[in-house]
Amino acid sequence: AARLIDGKARAAALRAAVAERVAAFPGRKPGLAVVLVGEDPASSVYVRSKNRACAEAGMRGFEHRLPDTVAQADLLALVDRLNADPEVDGILVQLPLPKHIDANKVITRIDPDKDVDGFHPVNAGRLATGLPGFVPCTPFGCLMLIRDVRERLAGLEAVVVGRSNIVGKPMAQLLIAESCTVTVAHSRTRDLGLHLARADVVVAAVGVPKLIRGDQLKAGATVIDVGINRTDVGLVGDVDFDSALPVAGAITPVPGGVGPMTIACLLRNTLVSAGRREGVEIDEGGF
Ligand code: NAD
Repeated sequence: AARLIDGKARAAALRAAVAERVAAFPGRKPGLAVVLVGEDPASSVYVRSKNRACAEAGMRGFEHRLPDTVAQADLLALVDRLNADPEVDGILVQLPLPKHIDANKVITRIDPDKDVDGFHPVNAGRLATGLPGFVPCTPFGCLMLIRDVRERLAGLEAVVVGRSNIVGKPMAQLLIAESCTVTVAHSRTRDLGLHLARADVVVAAVGVPKLIRGDQLKAGATVIDVGINRTDVGLVGDVDFDSALPVAGAITPVPGGVGPMTIACLLRNTLVSAGRREGVEIDEGGF
C-alpha cells in the first residue's frame, strides 16, 4: 500500500521553522494583513485560522473586515493604505469577492512585493520566468510534499489535473522548473486516463469528488490530492482514496494532506517578504 503523506505533520514542522526564524527576526515582527469582505462562513473560518496561525508563529496579524456592500473604490483605498504601511509585509484579500467588485482589479492593486498569495500577474510572470517573487501557497505546499517523497524530480512524468490560476497553472510551472515533463489536463481533456496511466506524479486540483480512481494510476505514483469537496459522507478529495491507496506509491489524505500546508506556506511567504523588505537574511530555499 501507498505511503501516507502526512501534511499535518509537515505543515507543523514548517510552521515551527517559521516561528523560529520570526523569533530571531531583528526589530519589528513580520506582519500579515488579511482583508475579508462580507460574511461568507467558509471565508470567515479561513481568515480566522490565518490570523491564529500568524499569532502562533509570533507574527503580527492585521484583520480588516468590510461589509459586502463596500464600494470597490473603498476596498482599493484600503489596499493602497496597506501597500504604504511599513508594518505590513504581506497582504491577502480573501476570495471570493462580492459580484460588484472586480477581483482582478483588487489583486493587481496589491504591491507585488507584498503579494504573499502570489496571485498578482507580476508574480505569475516571475514564476513562469524563474525570477524571485511569491509562489501561490497551495501549489508551493504540494511541491514541498512531493519533494519529501521523491528524491529526484528531474525527468519524471507529471500530470496536473486542473488549470486554475490559483492551483493548476502555478503547479505546472513549479514542476517544469523541477525539470518534470508536465501535462496539464482540464475539463476539455479528451482522455484523462491516457495521461494518468504514465504519470509518476499526479496533482489533482479539480473539485470533483473521487474523479480519479486507483485503476487509472501508474503503480507507485505520487498522488497529491488538492480537492476539498463537501459531500454527505464528509470531506472527500478529487481522488478516490480507497482505490488509489493500494496502487499509489505515496498519497495525501483529505483532510490532513495538502490543506494544512497552504497556511504554513502563507506564513513562510510573509516571513520571506519581511526579510526582503528589511534586508534580513532568510534562508529562502531552506524551509
Ligand atoms: P477551479 O474550479 O478554479 O478549477 C478547477 C479545474 O478543474 C478547472 O481548470 C477545470 O478545467 C478542471 N476540471 C473540471 N472538471 C474536470 C474534469 N472532469 N476532468 C479534468 N479536469 C476538470 O478550482 P481550484 O481553485 O483550482 O480548486 C480545485 C480544488 O482544490 C477544489 O476542490 C478546491 O476546493 C480545492 N482547493 C484546495 C486548497 C487547499 O488549500 N487544499 C486550495 C485551493 C483549492
